[in-house]
Amino acid sequence: MNTPPDRWIEVAVQTPAHSGVGDLLTYRSPQPVQPGQLVRVPLGRREVLGVVWNTLTSAPPLAPQTIKTITGVLDGLAPLDPGWRQLMAFGAQYYQRSLGEMALSALPPQLRELDSVQLARRLKKMADAAQLTPQPGPTLSAQQADALQQIAQHPGPFLLFGSTGSGKTEVYLRAVAQRLQADPQAQALILVPEINLTPQLETRVRERFGDAAVVAMHSGLTPAQRLKSWLAAHSGAARIVLGTRMAVLAPMPHLQLIVVDEEHDPSYKQQEGARYSARDLALYRGQQCGAQVLLGSATPSLESWHHSRPADEAAADAGGRCVRLHMPARIGAAALPVVRRVDMNHQPRRTVLSAPLVQAIQARVAKGEQSMLLLNRRGYAPVLYCADCGWKSECRHCSAFRVFHKGDRTLRCHHCGATDRVPRACPSCGNADIAPMGRGTEQLEEHLAELLADVRRPDGLPVRIARIDADTTRLKGALESQLAAVHSGEVDVLVGTQMIAKGHDFRRITLVAAINPDSALFSSDFRAPERQFALLMQAAGRAGRDATQGESEMLVQTFHPAHPLFAALKRHDYPAFAASELAERATASLPPFSHQALLRADAREQAVAQGFLNAARETLEAWLSEEEGGMATLEQVSLYPAVPMGLQKVADVERAQMLIESPSRKHLHRVLSRLQDVLHTLRSDSAHKGLIRWLVDVDPQAI
Ligand code: ADP
Ligand code: ZN
Ligand code: ZN
Repeated sequence: MNTPPDRWIEVAVQTPAHSGVGDLLTYRSPQPVQPGQLVRVPLGRREVLGVVWNTLTSAPPLAPQTIKTITGVLDGLAPLDPGWRQLMAFGAQYYQRSLGEMALSALPPQLRELDSVQLARRLKKMADAAQLTPQPGPTLSAQQADALQQIAQHPGPFLLFGSTGSGKTEVYLRAVAQRLQADPQAQALILVPEINLTPQLETRVRERFGDAAVVAMHSGLTPAQRLKSWLAAHSGAARIVLGTRMAVLAPMPHLQLIVVDEEHDPSYKQQEGARYSARDLALYRGQQCGAQVLLGSATPSLESWHHSRPADEAAADAGGRCVRLHMPARIGAAALPVVRRVDMNHQPRRTVLSAPLVQAIQARVAKGEQSMLLLNRRGYAPVLYCADCGWKSECRHCSAFRVFHKGDRTLRCHHCGATDRVPRACPSCGNADIAPMGRGTEQLEEHLAELLADVRRPDGLPVRIARIDADTTRLKGALESQLAAVHSGEVDVLVGTQMIAKGHDFRRITLVAAINPDSALFSSDFRAPERQFALLMQAAGRAGRDATQGESEMLVQTFHPAHPLFAALKRHDYPAFAASELAERATASLPPFSHQALLRADAREQAVAQGFLNAARETLEAWLSEEEGGMATLEQVSLYPAVPMGLQKVADVERAQMLIESPSRKHLHRVLSRLQDVLHTLRSDSAHKGLIRWLVDVDPQAI
């Protein structure tokens, strides 16, 4: 019998975080395999899934007996193409994770459990690329037609800067139709921040293009559904993938267009493992595979805004990485709501709902129109408090207060989940009179019900109040049915957190109120005003979407009515807000004028976490100063001392962070890649006993 010649391959596998194992492991394969194929390989005592990355033409410099043989090949599945592999390699390098972790976390979990036979069965069910016969859409507005014409003429990428209700979604759908009709295989990817918040969009896409052409991809799917969507994307059967941030990692061999809706949304940033930004990866992917990229928002991220220019200037100006398309007007005769600031300094102390707001709500109810009240804090009250001894409902495990939930009479920590019954008396002094301090949506709903008890709808029935937040929507399907009640007009007054502000095409809301928007004005996070402005603009955008309803308005209750953020909001003037924020960022050398990364360490004791970070900084500086060009890099990069995180302790774990900042991405990344070696070297040092983990967050969204 002839023994087949040895074939050596390098495979990406998911190695445990911080294991220090190199990126690719070498195996022997009894049969020929190609890069991009999936294989099963022994790893320690387990058998794991891996992606073949390279095939070697000569024996690797390893002792032959140390090279294990793969256990199987998932043949039948086309190899993951070079473009996808390059995306993974880029993501791993940019976000400082191992290639194996990046690549394997992009695969649907169920793929790990299937053998070749089971996989073949699922693949057999895959159809060819779905035929596309889009339903006709409405006649385009002039500005929609204009935007689409630019999209047809320029390679992009684009930033579609369009007011809420200006018809951005229609532009996305037409752009998709244009591309997909021109090429019977072409695929499009539509990214949305949180799909369950906007079930309307999925319905619209499916109605326009037909169920067979569209697959969804998000964490709400069952493992089987997710695998099916992934196989459809990879095989080309799905022409359109509609998904959340994870979908940017889906293999799509014929990808020609990527849409990123609400591109400013923080949920595009993954918050664990490889902390990638799906928006930024979309831009990279588009450039790398030649797909057009279309970002859209009424309130773009300051990064995207700063890097975009109107089409006629884009070519001339090196700062214009994106072509800016502007759609200022709403569809039809609908106008943006009139924004009124209510000065809370002139209201009686402890006023929750000001007199002008209560009157405005009553007037809407009487006319049969809807109102929406935004309060970005769930629960009844953020703290319980004893006036006698000063006790507060702190969490034992976190540096945070447990929130009072009146409905089930619990104190709940929103960080670690610790839940206790509300004590009958102060646990510290026995005082029976402990009181809620501050307010959340649950209390607002209760308060509103008292204030409006006598108010009738035009049909004579009592006013109907509903609340939508993470607590009322815990059960599957709850959010959908609650949103449906708002759309159908069953609800007169809607109370909720930011969940209600985003994306919904409510047709009958004519009054929106921001109850307590001030805290973001004084946050230590430099992005807080940007996020608050976006949220308030989005909230305003829910009002007056139907021109046949009466005039719409937004009321902002604030103790700082003269603040420039509210002045810009009143004029619906995002460019003015962006200009003033960017001026401040430029002065302080903050992003987008610099680039940041955070190194975070977790330990049982704060001193250990900080000690590890400071040691890492010192070692890194010492190493770099000895290396060629290292001094030049150090001069370009600021390494700040370790500090406790804003939320210092969570679930009994102490957290510290160190900020790394540079005007130069190149130098920042040189520091980061050196940092990995430093961290692996330091961790075995007994001085850092008690260290639990570290992580690197490149382009962090919160610091
Ligand atoms: P945006 O995403 O910019 O907030 P949408 O795409 O949701 O706006 O559009 C707002 C509303 O206008 C939707 O109800 C949509 O169906 C409708 N619409 C969009 N384009 C047109 C058009 N050209 N003619 C008529 N109605 C349109
Ligand atoms: Zn007490
Ligand atoms: Zn806690």
